[in-house]
Amino acid sequence: MTPHKSTFVVVGGGAGGVVVARSLPKTLDPTRHDLILINKLPYRIILPASLRMLVSDKGKLEERIFVPYDKVFVDGNGTFIEGLVTQVNAGDNSNSGSLTLSDGRVIEYDVLVLATGSKWDGPTSFPDDASKMNAHIAARRDEIAKANDILLVGGGAVGIVILDDYVEDLPAETFGPVQIRTVKGKALEPDLLLRTWGARSNTACLPSSFLTPNGTIKVLPTLQLPSHPNIFALGDLIEWDEQKTAAKAQLGHAPVVVKNVELHLKGVEVSKKGKVYSGSMEIIMVSNGRVGAII
Ligand SMILES: Cc1cc2nc3c(=O)[nH]c(=O)nc-3n(C[C@H](O)[C@H](O)[C@H](O)COP(=O)(O)OP(=O)(O)OC[C@H]3O[C@@H](n4cnc5c(N)ncnc54)[C@H](O)[C@@H]3O)c2cc1C
Repeated sequence: MTPHKSTFVVVGGGAGGVVVARSLPKTLDPTRHDLILINKLPYRIILPASLRMLVSDKGKLEERIFVPYDKVFVDGNGTFIEGLVTQVNAGDNSNSGSLTLSDGRVIEYDVLVLATGSKWDGPTSFPDDASKMNAHIAARRDEIAKANDILLVGGGAVGIVILDDYVEDLPAETFGPVQIRTVKGKALEPDLLLRTWGARSNTACLPSSFLTPNGTIKVLPTLQLPSHPNIFALGDLIEWDEQKTAAKAQLGHAPVVVKNVELHLKGVEVSKKGKVYSGSMEIIMVSNGRVGAII
């Protein structure tokens, strides 16, 4: 009888998921385990560079910041599936489950890693369908080019970066000093309003029992789900009191998940003896125009 080949599925090939999918083949024996990475688009979008791409066609960033998954698996040990996961069917079973994709395909898993990141409003609300990407980029560039008065609603990292990218390409005489003022009692009539406020966790495909009231995923310090020791989560979608960044997903969360998947495979009770995540240094670096950065 052929022994059961276990299937490891990573959902979301962004900052955190790619590191996990790239690291796991070093641990998984391809004769006994299958590794699958599922992402809704056929490429990863390098988000920090995406704002400049949306503001301007200078440098043709769209040719450089969409990174396909063809080289993600070490020694080719893994399979990439392009698909939008619409439902995680975990049931009460801690050994296996399945995922439903928007086109009706069902993918079975033994171990699942969730890394679907955030849902953004405004310019970075990229389409789920790659065939609509060029139109999305062209529409954002066009509306910005045509607007005289742009109101950014949200002055966090995304708002600051988009402002710097926009200002840098303006002729000096068209732009006066930056004014920051409250809107209380004052009617603003911009040509274009860009929603640059924060993001929500991208967890719509998950059972509500996995989630906090904020929509984030409840995790143990081992980055396992309390109810399902065979499911791990990392990146923006986990409930953790920290500012979410790509750096944390890649350098803080991913090594914990990779180590604990390896221990789970060896039969170790990860929730008791696994590697724990205890937080990362709070630091954020944002670009300041084409060549500058602020930490
Ligand atoms: C404009 C912008 C600038 C940023 N700048 C910085 C920065 O300078 N430094 C920094 O550290 N962080 C920055 N961040 C934050 C950083 O990008 C995120 O914290 C990081 O990407 C989170 O990683 P993640 O793996 O959780 O999710 P993501 O990197 O967002 O990856 C999620 C992946 O899951 C896929 N996906 C989503 N839903 C599904 C589904 N249902 N089915 C299949 N696939 C799905 C998506 O296509 C995506 O590839 C920035 C974010 C934005 C939007």
